[in-house]
Amino acid sequence: MNIVSKHPVAVHDLSWKYGERIILRNINLKIERGRFYGIIGPNGSGKTTLLRNISKSLVPAAKAVYIDDLDAAGLSSRDIAKKLAVVPQSTNVEFDFTVTDIVLMGRNPYIRRFGSESRADMEIAEKAMKATNTWHLKDKCISEISGGERQRVIIARALAQDTAVMLLDEPVSQLDIHHQIEIMELICSLTRGRALTAVSVMHDLNLAAQYSDFLILISEGIIVCQGTPQQVITKENLKNVYHLDSFIVNNPVTGKPYIMHVEKLKKHVVYK
Ligand code: ADP
Repeated sequence: MNIVSKHPVAVHDLSWKYGERIILRNINLKIERGRFYGIIGPNGSGKTTLLRNISKSLVPAAKAVYIDDLDAAGLSSRDIAKKLAVVPQSTNVEFDFTVTDIVLMGRNPYIRRFGSESRADMEIAEKAMKATNTWHLKDKCISEISGGERQRVIIARALAQDTAVMLLDEPVSQLDIHHQIEIMELICSLTRGRALTAVSVMHDLNLAAQYSDFLILISEGIIVCQGTPQQVITKENLKNVYHLDSFIVNNPVTGKPYIMHVEKLKKHVVYK
């Protein structure tokens, strides 16, 4: 019997240093299946470092990161790639590949060395392209399509990986608002429909609050607060972490907190 763990990702007392500099301190997380988690916090607070520890692109200490209840330290990168797909921050994908080539790369963890993709792999790639509205681009060269389309292709590649968890690093920060909402709704619909679990670093606090089931607020390598958007997006937290005075209302459509107006707490610097 295939036992499905309640927490596809769990982090226990994870700390991380670059040289002597402590970047993450005693991080504890239990990620629930089929939910969308937004990781927020100022630049340099350790958000990407946390994602990279979970995906094992940085190697965490033993017993610090668990994927499906298994210690990540003991899993090979191929094992991890069957469980977690990563949508990285920059999408510098190779120039000469077609969209189909890129999406098929998501099947690599399942293809034997020197083997080629099967008909089933092609079908999975097709399904991923249809779900991300990129099927019509399948024969285009990746360099010929727009930034929004390219981001959807990278998400299609992650979907083709057929994992239970997707980790995303600022997936929409380079896109216009139309494409931001399109991508956020796509990821959210996947978490609802496929019991996919998404953990995404988010730059825009309002988008994060609107789409996340849970938020994780990080500052200086520490989790300052985690919980529902209502629990995390508070005047006090924004003041403590971002040093901003904010005015928070309830979005009348979503019921989620919406930051209306922010002002730096320090005196304005007059630029002469
Ligand atoms: P965030 O994603 O919250 O902006 P990061 O996790 O990227 O933060 O970075 C946290 C801190 O770690 C930053 O101060 C950054 O300069 C530092 N850092 C990131 N990558 C490296 C690296 N490869 N070597 C040394 N320091 C790094």
